[in-house]
Amino acid sequence: MLAPYKPMNIAIEGLSKRFGKTLALDNVTLAARPGELLALLGPSGSGKTTLLRIIAGLETGETGMLTIGGTDAMNLPPRERGIGFVFQSYALFRHMTVFENIAFGLRIRTRSERPNRSEIADRVNHLLSLVQLDGMGARYPAQLSGGQRQRVALARALAVEPKVLLLDEPFGALDAKVRVELRHWLRSLHDRLSLTTVFVTHDQEEALELADRVAILAAGRIEQLGPPREVYDAPASPFVIEFLGEVNRFSCRVQNGLARLALQGCEPVAAPGLPDALAVAYVRPHEIELVDAQASGAATATVRSVSVIGPRTRIHLTAGDQVIEADAERSRAEALDLSPGKSVGLRFRTVRIYPTAR
Ligand code: ATP
Repeated sequence: MLAPYKPMNIAIEGLSKRFGKTLALDNVTLAARPGELLALLGPSGSGKTTLLRIIAGLETGETGMLTIGGTDAMNLPPRERGIGFVFQSYALFRHMTVFENIAFGLRIRTRSERPNRSEIADRVNHLLSLVQLDGMGARYPAQLSGGQRQRVALARALAVEPKVLLLDEPFGALDAKVRVELRHWLRSLHDRLSLTTVFVTHDQEEALELADRVAILAAGRIEQLGPPREVYDAPASPFVIEFLGEVNRFSCRVQNGLARLALQGCEPVAAPGLPDALAVAYVRPHEIELVDAQASGAATATVRSVSVIGPRTRIHLTAGDQVIEADAERSRAEALDLSPGKSVGLRFRTVRIYPTAR
C-alpha cells in the first residue's frame, strides 16, 4: 500500500535564470502551500517550464533560493528531491507493460531502499486502481488511449511516493473532450491525495477551473498570484486581463476620478485613485448589456453581424473606428431584433481601468 502523503510546501525566493541573452526567470518569488494545487499559467516563452524544471532539479537556477518541505533543495540532485514529474508527452517505456512502467521507479532503487516483489506488486495494483486502470497492467502503452497513457504516467510518478508532484502541460497532447475529463479526474485525485502539486499550462480555462491558486507569468516574472476568482475578477494589470479571456479595450481620459471613454453617449465611469491622464478601459463581452439605442447614458453602436453559438449570441459591433464584441442570451438578442446595420445602446456592467503604460 501507499504510505499516506505528507504535504510539503515549496518556497522559491528571488530566483533568476538566464539562457545566453534570454532572461527566462527574473527574480521570481513564489510559494506552493502544503497540499495545494498551484497552476503556472502564461504565454509561450514566459518561463513556466523553466521554473518547473528548476524545482525538479533538471535545470539549475542562477540566483535565488528553493526549499521543499523546509529543506534547501537548490543543490540537491533530482533523485533526492522527492519529486514526481509528468510531462506532456507521456514518455512511457514502449517495450514495458503498464505494470512494469509503474514499477520502474521502485525497481531501480538500491537494494536497501527497494521494496520486495510482493510489496511492489501491491503498490502497483493499488495505483492502477487509483488511476482507474484496474486489470490493464499487462497491456503495452501502444494498446492504450492517450488519456489512459497519461494516467499511467501519473501512476508512475506517484509510485515513488513523491513529496510533490510536478505536471508540465499534462493534458496538452489530448483532444478537448478527454482533456476536460482528465482535468476533473485530476482534481478529485488531488483532493484525495492532498499532495502538493504544481502544474504548467498555457490554457487559462484549465488553470482557472483546476487550481487552488494561479500564478500568471509574463516574460519571466510573476504578474499576479491568487485564487482563480481573484485573478479573474481583479486582474492586477492589463496583461492579466488580456490573457484571461476575451476583452474589449477602449481608450479613455481620467479626470477628477472619472474616466470618459471615447464612445458617443457613454456615461463617465468611476476611476477612483487614478491620476488625471490618458488611460485604458477594459470590458469583457459578457459584461456588456444591450439596450435600446435611445436609452440614456448608453453608448451607441452599430450591429455588424450576429452569430448564434449554442445558447448564446455573439454580436460584433462598431462605434466609429472602435470594434466591440458583446455576448447576449439568445432570447435577449431576439427581443432586440438585432440585425446588421441596426443601432443599439451599450451599458457596461463592469469596466476596469488601468493607467496607460509609459
Ligand atoms: P511554452 O509554453 O512554450 O513551453 P514556457 O513558458 O514554458 O513556454 P520556457 O520553456 O520556460 O517557457 O522558456 C522561457 C524562455 O527561456 C524562452 O524564451 C525560451 O526560448 C528560453 N529557453 C528555455 N530553455 C532554453 C534552453 N535550454 N536554451 C536556451 N533558451 C531556452
